Amino acid sequence: MARYTGPKCRLCRREGVKLFLKGTRCATEKCALSKRAQIPGQHFRGRSRVSDYGKHLREKQKVKRIYGLLEAQFKTYYEKAAKIPGVTGDIFLQQLESRLDNAVFSAGFASSRQAARQLIRHKKINVNGKLVDLPAYQVSANDMISYVVADSRPQEESEFPAWLAWDVKNKGVKVLRLPVREDIGYEIDEQLIVEYYSR
Ligand code: SF4
Repeated sequence: MARYTGPKCRLCRREGVKLFLKGTRCATEKCALSKRAQIPGQHFRGRSRVSDYGKHLREKQKVKRIYGLLEAQFKTYYEKAAKIPGVTGDIFLQQLESRLDNAVFSAGFASSRQAARQLIRHKKINVNGKLVDLPAYQVSANDMISYVVADSRPQEESEFPAWLAWDVKNKGVKVLRLPVREDIGYEIDEQLIVEYYSR
C-alpha cells in the first residue's frame, strides 16, 4: 500500500509537536524538533492565525501521522467508529490504538510504528501462536503477541502501557484489555477530528 516516504521530522515540524516517528532518536537531543521547531517551507515567515477549519484539519493530520495512515484508511476508522454506539472520538482512538502495529510498538518489539509494520509484514509477529502479517489487524483482550524468533521480554515491566503486560509462562505480551482513551499518551483533541469529518 502507498505510504508517505518523505522526511519524517518534517511532519513533526509541520504539526509543531513530537510525533515520535523515528524510534529512539526521538527521545534524544538529535530530535529535529528540538533543534528547529519551525514549519517547513522556504518562505515561512512565522505562524499565522489558524482558522477554525485549519485547527480541525491540523488535529486530523497530526493523529493520522502519529499512526502512519493514509487519508482513506484513516477516514474508514472514523466512519466505522461513527456507526458504533458510544462516544465516537473514544471508539475511533481505541480502534487506532488496537491496530497490531501499534500494539507491537507499544509492547516494545519495535522502536516506531513503522518499524513495527516491517516486523509484521516480514512475518516476525505471532498472535495467539499464529503468524499475522497484517499491520491493521485489530487485537482483542487476551490476545498473546510474540516475536517469532525470541522469547525475551521486549522491555521492562514498568514500560508497558496499562493494557499490555509480559506473560512469563507464554513468553509473549498479553493484551489485558482493549486500550481506552486514558492509555493514549499523546495530546489529542479527538473531538476536533469528529467535527472535521462530520461537517
Ligand atoms: Fe519527530 Fe523528533 Fe522523532 Fe524527528 S526525531 S520524527 S522531529 S520526534
